[in-house]
Amino acid sequence: MTTLKTIGVIGAGTMGNGIAQACATSGLAAIMIDVADAALDKGKATIAGSLERLVKKEKLTAADRDAALGRVTTSTDYGKLAAADFIIEAATERLELKLDILKKVDAIARQDVIIATNTSSISITQLAAVMKRPSQFLGVHFFNPVPMMALVELVRGLATDDATIATAEAFAKTLGKTPIVVKNSPGFVVNRILCPMLNEAIFVYQEGLASAAAIDEGMKLGCNHPIGPLALCDMIGLDVLLAVMNVFYADFKDPKYRPAPLLQEMVAAGWLGRKTGRGFYAYEGK
Ligand code: NAD
Repeated sequence: MTTLKTIGVIGAGTMGNGIAQACATSGLAAIMIDVADAALDKGKATIAGSLERLVKKEKLTAADRDAALGRVTTSTDYGKLAAADFIIEAATERLELKLDILKKVDAIARQDVIIATNTSSISITQLAAVMKRPSQFLGVHFFNPVPMMALVELVRGLATDDATIATAEAFAKTLGKTPIVVKNSPGFVVNRILCPMLNEAIFVYQEGLASAAAIDEGMKLGCNHPIGPLALCDMIGLDVLLAVMNVFYADFKDPKYRPAPLLQEMVAAGWLGRKTGRGFYAYEGK
């Protein structure tokens, strides 16, 4: 197994800059690629702000912050990925875009390099099919916020080989994360279980069985969940949850995945949760 030193990260958004930060604080060099300098500057500034907060909380020294920041380089030039030992695609969630990116990266990356995607909803097997190295391709599904969340789902497509999984497991552990290996299927494992549970909480609310506060209190105290399902919906974004349920409903063709009518109506109203100031709770002024 090659020792991974330099990680290529495609996309400097929420997940991309989080992955680059996790690499950098674990001693790995990260090359962050995006389409525009503005996106790269924003991504790097987010990392700097996040590391600064760790210094303030005395979880990181100023010297380690500077060293970590120094390990993150940015570029709009995909050619820079020729130097990467492992590459993770974390660009916008659009099938055509990802297919284009992966074909491009496949042509640039060294032959021994594993290419991964952080997609939440697109089939790993389908993405692998456009590549010349499908056995060296897998899903490496991080959770948001990446620097905080301990889990990484390693998603095995139909063609992914054991050596690829072993290298990805070692990589996740280098980042201090706990990997679980799962098979490719819509939503993988965590979102497959979580999203229908959140959708069911919305059905319960829409049927008037209990108030939002009571539903959340019930699941916190009755199931030891750290946050109630409706508060979590507001945090994730109702549009994101609706998109996931629509994927499940379309892919499995099973009515148990139908999105709650109230979820659809709230999204139509623009009540998306925290990001719009209103969801199951009001966040104005916060
Ligand atoms: P985001 O919108 O915050 O960032 C996406 C970035 O990709 C943007 O900076 C955009 O400029 C860039 N981009 C677009 N086209 C590109 C291209 N051709 N080359 C390079 N960069 C390009 O999105 P995000 O929330 O970071 O999501 C990224 C991926 O991670 C998606 O596949 C998503 O499904 C997945 N994911 C998201 C979350 C989450 O909670 N946000 C969790 C797990 C997985």
